[in-house]
Amino acid sequence: MALEVIGIHSYYGLSHILFDVSLGVGEAEAVALLGRNGAGKTTTLRTIMGFLAPREGTIRFRGKEITGRDPYEIARMGIGHVPEDRRIFPNLTVRENLDVGSKVGANGKRRWTIERLYALFPQLGELEQRKGGYLSGGEQQMLTIARSLMGNPDLLLLDEPSEGLAPVVVEALARQIRELKQEGVSILLCEQNSAFALELCEHTYIIEKGAIAYHGASADLRQNAEVMRAYLAL
Ligand code: ATP
Repeated sequence: MALEVIGIHSYYGLSHILFDVSLGVGEAEAVALLGRNGAGKTTTLRTIMGFLAPREGTIRFRGKEITGRDPYEIARMGIGHVPEDRRIFPNLTVRENLDVGSKVGANGKRRWTIERLYALFPQLGELEQRKGGYLSGGEQQMLTIARSLMGNPDLLLLDEPSEGLAPVVVEALARQIRELKQEGVSILLCEQNSAFALELCEHTYIIEKGAIAYHGASADLRQNAEVMRAYLAL
């Protein structure tokens, strides 16, 4: 397994936010974590990434326990995190933004080079000299994902990558995520856009009020109008 999350409980101060959350992502598999606004998706990713230590539970990455480790250490082990707020450097060009993210992967390999990323995201190659602050929302999202790939992660945590993007850009993003999977990158995709996530991911978890309310094959969930209506904003 690329990622195993087993029975985690997370708190912000005194507020108990995650209740016994368990989920798994296989090697080179894409898994969706769906849920409404405020359901606990971002908190789950932040806990995996080490920004928040769970009070209970265990998190393993490729069999190694990472619970409670620091984010920089977790990143170095091979987990990339693309947060919801696209954190690009507005005063740096596209190329400079990518150079800043560059590091060899946990296995010492450098799977992604700038040239390969431009092949995956052709728009970024065309905009190479443009400052990050002048990019459109979709271009910024692609730059954020491309920059985290420059760190050569084996597992990518994506927090609502389709948010605020036009449908054609979402389609392009879907193609790119599929290619990443073919490259062997494992993906945990948090989304409110269930159509987008169900199309890309074999397995889906639904989180509701900080607890996993449903887990199953995405193909089954698509047929299950009752569950879709009960837990997702449709
Ligand atoms: P969204 O799509 O809105 O980001 P989400 O599913 O990612 O939703 P979270 O951001 O994980 O949800 O939020 C889960 C719960 O934790 C919400 O009730 C939210 O109000 C609460 N919460 C989030 N951040 C904090 C914080 N820093 N302090 C206290 N409570 C927080």
